Amino acid sequence: MNSLLIYPEWPDTYWSFKHALPFEGKRSAYPPLGLLTVASMLPKHWQKKLVDTNVRPLTDADLEWADVALLSGMLVHKQDLLAILARCRARGLRTVIGGPVTSSVEELPLHADHVVIGEAEDLIADLAADLERGTAKPVYRARELPGLDTTPLPDLSLISPKYYSAMAIQYSRGCPFTCEFCDIIEIYGRKPRTKSPAQVVTELDQLYQSKWRGSVFIVDDNFIGNKKKVKELLPVLRDWNVQHQRPFTFFTEASVNLADDADLLQMMKDAGFTRVFLGIETPVEASLKEAQKLQNTRRSLMESVRRVQTYGMEVMAGFIVGFDNDPEDVFDKQVEFIQESAIPLAMVGLLLALPGTQLYRRLMKEGRIVDEGRGDNMDLRLNFIPRMNAERLVEGYRSILRRIYHPDAYYERVRRFLAQYRPTHHRPRSLSDYLALGRSILKQGVLGEARASYWKFFLQAATRYRHAFDTAITLAIMGYHFQTLTRVVCDAE
Ligand code: SF4
Repeated sequence: MNSLLIYPEWPDTYWSFKHALPFEGKRSAYPPLGLLTVASMLPKHWQKKLVDTNVRPLTDADLEWADVALLSGMLVHKQDLLAILARCRARGLRTVIGGPVTSSVEELPLHADHVVIGEAEDLIADLAADLERGTAKPVYRARELPGLDTTPLPDLSLISPKYYSAMAIQYSRGCPFTCEFCDIIEIYGRKPRTKSPAQVVTELDQLYQSKWRGSVFIVDDNFIGNKKKVKELLPVLRDWNVQHQRPFTFFTEASVNLADDADLLQMMKDAGFTRVFLGIETPVEASLKEAQKLQNTRRSLMESVRRVQTYGMEVMAGFIVGFDNDPEDVFDKQVEFIQESAIPLAMVGLLLALPGTQLYRRLMKEGRIVDEGRGDNMDLRLNFIPRMNAERLVEGYRSILRRIYHPDAYYERVRRFLAQYRPTHHRPRSLSDYLALGRSILKQGVLGEARASYWKFFLQAATRYRHAFDTAITLAIMGYHFQTLTRVVCDAE
């Protein structure tokens, strides 16, 4: 059986990093880890090919070769997934779709021959056997959340790591918190399930043997969901990294209570973590309570961010506007917080009621759901009726983006961050770092619209902040992505 695994194209969102990738000469931010893992679950005698459409186009020859197409993605990929499914079906190619999108979009059985809902570990063997017999069912639904002890190594032979900005591994699934808008807890549950330290080491060994050096994204939605277990993992990660002369730096996502645990912070620093994404959402306490994000309440969020930063980790954070309790001046409050906290990469989105979440169910009961949404929290088409006037909300949202990604405000934030940042893990510069620097100078310093702001920042990075010059240039390049995206959103109808 010739199986063609297809990953859809990322739309232009924060997490795509599309406008920053050309600086590094990369084509995509991360490889499609879920599909690579599913590939390892397919029968050994199947032929496998993977097309990540972020890296290269899907060709007719690919489709001609295949006996079955296996697609995966998230709600944000829906349009591209539907287009690929239509293309496959027009050629009579059998299609299977899985991934988080199948938990959010009910109509998928109309577009794909077989839909896999839930985690793949317990389903793929039956699906593959049924496909071989020609008896595959329209829907395969996972009955329970599998342990991760049987999750195989992703099949890295199907990709070229050189096209990606970072490699990815997964340590855990699930999160113990109850944020109302979150679909993670609905899909992966509230009891974090983890891999063993030995499994993680095997994945690192595989990445190392594939000659990867550089960033590794631990894709968990909340890396510290089970603190006891993660504290068993981190010394192992540190030892592995040290024994191999620190080939990897790590970044991940975590809940804000990370800031409360000095041991954990120190362990992450020692292991080689250089960046962490925190879900801050809003400085408005009433909105945090409404969102059941209680772990962010009764604390100084500003102080929490600072504490994480003092451990040599850059804080990247998510922010949301559109809660029922947001006051009229929420937009100013968000801007003030972001500037003051020195979070260079602030991902501000509009509240989105994702299908299957507590929020979606509540708003549905209140008669406020408009549609299922597009999974992109930068999309200005709200999928629910907000408490605040919708036009005011969207305009206020745009005003946040305009203000925080104005080059002067952005560089000011980065300067504040660099002033107290003490990087602990220096990676030797590679050719791609020098190329990125050259492209940054050309695109931002020579051809860019904000040349004066760029050069002022550049000179300070080379003098006052030379201890973190590489980080400064990376952040200048990331800023380009966010500034470009901001223009797209602000110019949209
Ligand atoms: S902390 Fe993050 S992953 Fe956990 S429930 Fe809240 S939003 Fe979801």
